Amino acid sequence: MTKSNDRVQVAVVGGGPGGYAAAFRAADHGLSVALVDPEENPGGVCLYRGCIPSKALLHVTKVLDDARAAAEWGIRFADPEIDLEALRGFEARVVEKLTRGLGDLRGRRDVRYVRGLAGIADAHTLEVDTGGDTKETIACEHIILATGSKPMRPSNLWIESPRVLDSSGALALDEVPKSLLVVGGGYIGLELGSVYASLGSRVSVVEMTEGLLPGVDRDLVGVLEKRVKERFDQVLLGTKVERLREMDDGIRVSLEGEDLEETEQRFEKVLIAVGRSPNTDIPGLGRTKVQIGDDGFLAVSPERRTAEPSIFAIGDIAGEPMLAHKASHEGKVAADVIAGEAAAFEPRAIPAVVFTDPEIAWCGLSEEEAKEEGIDVETARFPWEASGRATTLGGAKGLTKLIVEPESGRLLGAGFAGPGAGELVSETVLAIEMGATTKDLELSIHPHPTLSETVMEAAEVFLGHGTHVYRR
Ligand code: NAD
Repeated sequence: MTKSNDRVQVAVVGGGPGGYAAAFRAADHGLSVALVDPEENPGGVCLYRGCIPSKALLHVTKVLDDARAAAEWGIRFADPEIDLEALRGFEARVVEKLTRGLGDLRGRRDVRYVRGLAGIADAHTLEVDTGGDTKETIACEHIILATGSKPMRPSNLWIESPRVLDSSGALALDEVPKSLLVVGGGYIGLELGSVYASLGSRVSVVEMTEGLLPGVDRDLVGVLEKRVKERFDQVLLGTKVERLREMDDGIRVSLEGEDLEETEQRFEKVLIAVGRSPNTDIPGLGRTKVQIGDDGFLAVSPERRTAEPSIFAIGDIAGEPMLAHKASHEGKVAADVIAGEAAAFEPRAIPAVVFTDPEIAWCGLSEEEAKEEGIDVETARFPWEASGRATTLGGAKGLTKLIVEPESGRLLGAGFAGPGAGELVSETVLAIEMGATTKDLELSIHPHPTLSETVMEAAEVFLGHGTHVYRR
């Protein structure tokens, strides 16, 4: 049975942070909007199976870690009792509250919500599979594609087994395995590996490159790496997983790499976190002029328009970095363009945060990128050993680093490692977007005692007169 409704001005495919931000912005412009997603409410992977549940778990495990560390400060707690069912309940309540809130915001904006999987009939029509043999067609002036990404499952690494998990499986928190192998030392591997380590699993991580978080500033990763090595059983760098085999008592893993003591190891569970691939396999896409680039992403203009004039693409399908906040920003740009505004996706700095303990965050140009692109930069570092606030937090280890244009002192990039790094990075995003210099950062009074002072102090270091860093 096929149902059709009134034609809308904008139809958005995918209800994640990119898609719902686009739909809400388009509705706020006064456009008629339909939003298609299989879940009960908007939210997408980020809210249902990604950013939000993982951060809820990371919050809980930070409490566990802090309670353990408190013995050093004269407060001793009994060993924690972990009630997994209650913990899963907390995680579910967080997700429920936020997704229900989005459903409510959608309703107030009168965005039509069609639950199902959309295909493209033509450049102005969607066909939504709404379950069973029912279909709904949506005629529209514009389509915004925001279908996101899925975990990669390379054939040598993935076997169908309850013992082999992707990020969604790991977030389901069925149990705390005695031993967990994390394949991939990136965002997901380190965040979820940390959760399981705090809950009591013996965690090993295998990373095929020579360092954790490849591509991220080594000074920042260095701060995290020390902590990861303390908490994880093994950190195997320059190592690859050759094969997984299911046994009665776990997964036997064949490893390949130099300096490996054991090339065959057994783990109760294995988490595969080797990257995500964009969901570009949208039914009917081939009927349009939309192009897929050699990099596997949909080719889009700065307005996020594809080669098919009525179709826009945003978020993980429209290029790196695959981050929720980048998707939301693109969604708003696409909606503004459709509403007739002069808008473009041209950020100077996109922040990224790894929510481990300590957190790592950065934005703008990195020292490594500057080297590769032949851009002359100077760097300034402020070690948190010299921060009063970090010391009151039990001697939190950390670093604030600025990447600066030498002549003008203009801020080009910034990085943070330490507790709250994800909150600190925003000031430097604004500074980069506004073309601020280290002098501007130095002259802006920062509250004492806070970790935000480290931005001001790093600027002072660049200018050659750091109050708490002595240089002859
Ligand atoms: P990732 O790209 O961050 O890390 C994957 C890692 O796996 C890399 O270090 C890579 O070198 C390694 N790897 C690849 N193949 C391997 C193999 N065969 N053996 C060993 N190591 C191998 O990917 P991810 O952690 O899966 O996360 C996917 C994406 O999700 C990220 O790129 C990010 O955009 C997003 N994400 C963001 C956040 C956040 O913002 N905090 C959190 C989670 C995920």
